[in-house]
Amino acid sequence: MRFVSPLLKHAVYPALHHSGWLDRITPPGGYAVVNYHGVVPSDHSEPEVFLDGNLVQPEVLRQQLQFLKGHYELIHPDDFRAWVEQGKALPPRAILLTCDDGLLNTLTDMLPVLQSEGVSCMFFVTGASCRNNPGMLWYEELYRLMRIRTLNSLETQLPPEAGPSPVADTFQSRWWSTVRRASRLNAKERSDWMAAVRSEFGAKKNFGSEKRWRLLSIAELGLLADAGMSIGAHTQSHPVLSLCNDEETQREIHESKSELERTLGRPVWAFAYPFGNPATMGERELRLAREAGFACAFLNVEHWGAGPPSPFALPRIHVTANTTLPEFAAHLSGLHIRLQRAMGS
Ligand SMILES: [Zn+2]
Repeated sequence: MRFVSPLLKHAVYPALHHSGWLDRITPPGGYAVVNYHGVVPSDHSEPEVFLDGNLVQPEVLRQQLQFLKGHYELIHPDDFRAWVEQGKALPPRAILLTCDDGLLNTLTDMLPVLQSEGVSCMFFVTGASCRNNPGMLWYEELYRLMRIRTLNSLETQLPPEAGPSPVADTFQSRWWSTVRRASRLNAKERSDWMAAVRSEFGAKKNFGSEKRWRLLSIAELGLLADAGMSIGAHTQSHPVLSLCNDEETQREIHESKSELERTLGRPVWAFAYPFGNPATMGERELRLAREAGFACAFLNVEHWGAGPPSPFALPRIHVTANTTLPEFAAHLSGLHIRLQRAMGS
């Protein structure tokens, strides 16, 4: 949802939204899946604009949920499962809510909004949330550390870029290149490398709000599940899967299912690809998700190639901090993706 033309965002979508026209269109396929990455917790006082772009304010989440309740049919994740596995019909204009990564704020700040609006959500978490000390998402921690200063010799310990080196002329592109290179390590090597980076930067850094940066621990994950929320898998360590070798990709996907099932004591039937766009995954990942025994798997984009729809490439609407309500309505109705396709982008 990042590349919306200003004309659509600020003129066309608001006009269509206010006319009520968007809210009468049925989403492509009859349903839509909305994806969040958590909310901005109340004690997050040091914004990191780029990374925070995936989070929404709690009051914006509430406004979006109320809009969905007024114009669509919010379903329970189990209804979605029954549709995928048994072909049981979804209600017209069905909406499934999902949320990726399992940051602590999903429990402390997002769950209360969901509960007060009486809606269910499917949370996709990594293997880190099966532990007592889950830490941060490694690529967010890396971003924060690289903000302090360059990695210098630690960077040279990483494998080179898999293909031609992309132009890295901004901080974000240099960071993303480092994320890609570190994704070529296996999970143990990456964890060791991150430990070396941490130690090079001195004492444990305090990045401010724990609710913003830390992942759910095993006990906190249990609280989210006990509150009636559904839990799905999101790999063990959130690498760029397309840069992992076959064995590591299979392990990341398979073990995220088996470890979560052991932890929760219930089947884990859905998977969400980390980053979830064509630059970070492909047909191999779709096949491995199916072979792992998931009923379905979710992207983080609204369109996946040509060919018939696959339950292992389910599109989602990615809500960001900048998503306005008219834009949200345009994505839900399917108008946005239809226009993008018509414009060939
Ligand atoms: Zn993720």
